[in-house]
Amino acid sequence: MDNATRREAEEALEKLFTHSPMGVFIARGKKVELVNPGFQQITGYSEAELMAMDPLGLVAPGFREEVREKAIRMLKGQSSLPYEFPFITKGGQSGWAMATVVSTLYRGERATLGYILDITRRKQAEEALQESEHKYRELVENANSIILRWTREGKVTFLNEFGQKFFGYTEDEIIGRHVVGTIVPESESTGRNLQPLMDEICADPRKFEKNINENIRSNGERVWIDWTNKVVFDHQRQLVEILSIGSDITERKRAEEKLKQRTEELAALNALAHRVGACLSLDEFVAAALDPIVYPITPDQVLLYVRKNDHLVLQGTWPDRTAMSCNQARLQTGERLCGLALQAGQPIYFSNIPADPRCTLKACNEAGLRSFAALTLVSGERLLGVLGLAWAQEQDLQAQSGFLETIAGEVAMGLHNALLYRELQERANDLDQRVRERTVQLRAANKELEAFAYSISHDLRAPLRAVSGFAQIIARRHQAALNEEGRHYVDNIVLAAERMGHLIEDLLAYSRLGRQALTIRNLDLKEVLRRVLDDLEARVAATGAVVHVAEDLPWVPGDPTMLHQIFTNLLDNALIYRQPGVAPVIRVSWRADADQIVLAVADNGIGIESAYHEKIFNVFQRLHSDEEYPGTGIGLAIVKKSVIMLGGQVWVESEPGKGSTFYLKMPKE
Ligand code: ADP
Repeated sequence: MDNATRREAEEALEKLFTHSPMGVFIARGKKVELVNPGFQQITGYSEAELMAMDPLGLVAPGFREEVREKAIRMLKGQSSLPYEFPFITKGGQSGWAMATVVSTLYRGERATLGYILDITRRKQAEEALQESEHKYRELVENANSIILRWTREGKVTFLNEFGQKFFGYTEDEIIGRHVVGTIVPESESTGRNLQPLMDEICADPRKFEKNINENIRSNGERVWIDWTNKVVFDHQRQLVEILSIGSDITERKRAEEKLKQRTEELAALNALAHRVGACLSLDEFVAAALDPIVYPITPDQVLLYVRKNDHLVLQGTWPDRTAMSCNQARLQTGERLCGLALQAGQPIYFSNIPADPRCTLKACNEAGLRSFAALTLVSGERLLGVLGLAWAQEQDLQAQSGFLETIAGEVAMGLHNALLYRELQERANDLDQRVRERTVQLRAANKELEAFAYSISHDLRAPLRAVSGFAQIIARRHQAALNEEGRHYVDNIVLAAERMGHLIEDLLAYSRLGRQALTIRNLDLKEVLRRVLDDLEARVAATGAVVHVAEDLPWVPGDPTMLHQIFTNLLDNALIYRQPGVAPVIRVSWRADADQIVLAVADNGIGIESAYHEKIFNVFQRLHSDEEYPGTGIGLAIVKKSVIMLGGQVWVESEPGKGSTFYLKMPKE
């Protein structure tokens, strides 16, 4: 290097020395020989002040020895790494510096050339970062949530302490493992290939923000976790990692499930009560109670025993009785599982039949039964039967006992109803049978009576005809041979025979009523009345009676002869029982009443005392002598019998001296 170049270089170094923000100093021993303005700038001391002090005096107390050692090691060439240390400025402010020292010749002697760099700002930023990192770490570590980070391939990269404790893994055990098979249960559908899931997440990360999953602990226990997920993408929008924060909601989920189960049980119970309670007959009840669908915990077999004194009688099984080889049509107390419940008077549960010393029968085992509930059916104080529910799978029956007994209560209620109904039916049948028998007896007696009346009246006619015939011959041919008294007697004989003839005729008509077949058809009452009045025309004229017949008389179902007879008798009576010296006024009217028709025949005659209102409808009931009013006492009896045969009713409303109204209530159809 020539002189000119050397000078230029020195000049440049001089400039660097003067203008560099780096502090440069040369010291020998504890004495500073040279400092640049940068050094003054960093420390706040003037050149003169610095020249008068030990450079180590700038280092914060407590660090001086360490800095001295590091400087010596560097000077000895044992370390080339710049070292960092805190320093104090002239103003008392602390800062951080990084220093490098090298050995050099200065003015012919060995000296130390040092550079210091003010790194206060960097240090502050580092500290701030460290602090925030610390805070973040603390937050993550102390969080009461599971914090999990996992890669797109499913590898766990982080699980906070809470999460480790929760899932039952140490950090070493979980980091690097696949989520499936550790915290995500392995299933046929979730393979380890998470690509489809990742594709889905990339398509719409928001969809994946929240999800509730069933996860698994290291001990196999299933847990429910509510996850909030944050998908981390790199700057190329590649999915790098997923941050999942989860909280354990197992309790809530279990409570929900319990509630759901309880609701289902209640609904099933309701349905059971409905089905079993709606049955009337025992058969219907047995069919409903044996249907396993009605039981919320569906059994594989159902048996229904009804108690009879000290033993149980099998009413039915489901499926059909051959399916369960150990069931018996009749069980004594203490016999088999159901008999044990009868003996105990309370339900007995066999949760694990093969291991249960009470189940000595091989048959149950052979039938493949694991669990059996023998539920007593109790209504009030009475044990009505035993319901057996059997399962091929082992059931924790004790845990379900409350519910099973509620079921039994419902079934017992149904059984109680069915048994009551059966008893009622048996009684009704008995009653029915007795009524039928009595009716047959009564009918026979009636028939006999009618036949008797008929034959008597029939047989009486011939001798009566003889009596009346001979009396008339005497009256006609032997009139001269008789005195006044004799003629009077003979006339009486003729009249009495005539009356007896009427009586016999009426009696025959009455007894014929029950014997002849009815021909019921729809009849126009106007027509019936017209014919009756035709027949009575002479009598109406003779009495000067006025007869009003309603013009709108309806059609009624009835037997033509019977209806004719009914109205003839009623109108005839109205003409007979008239007030002396008063012309009869007779009205035939009607009104509709629900599905019946009420007909009325009213007169202005002598009327009837209320004491006789019912009696007059009996045979031979007369209120007057034959001299007062002629009659046989059978007319109204015929009316009543006919009306009853037509399915109707008859009654009278009347007061002496105020006329009478006879009512007929007849069916419309
Ligand atoms: P009979 O008219 O032949 O005596 P009924 O059976 O027709 O027999 O009548 C029974 C009795 O009822 C009659 O004797 C009479 O006393 C009374 N009776 C019937 N119809 C009337 C009437 N319209 N007014 C008053 N009394 C009557």
